[in-house]
Amino acid sequence: MRIDDNLKQIYQRIFAAAQNSGRHPEQIKLLAVSKMMPAEAVKEAYEAGQRVFAENRVQEWMEKHPLLPHDCEWHLIGRLQTNKVKYLNNQIALIHSLDRLSLLTALEEQGAKRNIIWPVLIQVNTARDPNKAGLMPQEVEDFLDAVADCQHIRVHGLMTIGALEATSEETRMFFRELRQIRDLLQTKEIPQVKLTELSMGMSRDFELAIAEGATMVRIGRRIFGERHY
Ligand SMILES: *Cc1c(COP(=O)(O)O)cnc(C)c1O
Repeated sequence: MRIDDNLKQIYQRIFAAAQNSGRHPEQIKLLAVSKMMPAEAVKEAYEAGQRVFAENRVQEWMEKHPLLPHDCEWHLIGRLQTNKVKYLNNQIALIHSLDRLSLLTALEEQGAKRNIIWPVLIQVNTARDPNKAGLMPQEVEDFLDAVADCQHIRVHGLMTIGALEATSEETRMFFRELRQIRDLLQTKEIPQVKLTELSMGMSRDFELAIAEGATMVRIGRRIFGERHY
């Protein structure tokens, strides 16, 4: 299948999933995950009308984004090493993977030095998978209190990745818990923190995520095809 056909199909499925759960399709942003895909493939998606893309490695983003038109919106997903923060700039629309204090400190330092306020999501390990990144659910509140002291960070919401081996019922619970954490902490009015966004759902489970309140879905393979490692 061609990338434009894939995109059309994904948008239809997002539309249907939103309607099935009584939501407006405009509340859900599709991030086309272009990691490991050549710039030509990303251009094909661009020509089909897609403007929002996500990469998981800073190096790859640095090489790829200058090859694409300037009106692309770039998101950073996946683990971010503190020594890579210096390569980021305000062309990153959102960092989805703030998951530890050392990264918070590195972002705050670079932000202060270069006068950048970083838009971020907090990554939460709702699957409690020891091999996965993300704060444990019970750690999120204290972490947000630490964010409140950082003038160069704005938290826009939460992000989670399911677990590879989970059943769809388990996956649904991981997504539901993320929304519940959001709902609970949203009432607290923490400085620098607004919890409007829920980034959850990938190719295999985005419809479940939409049913549980996702505002951003991150889809790679169903748009670009399989990645070859
Ligand atoms: C690769 C990746 C995705 C996209 O996964 P697909 O299965 O290709 O849809 C989404 N989120 C994160 C964090 C990823 O690393």
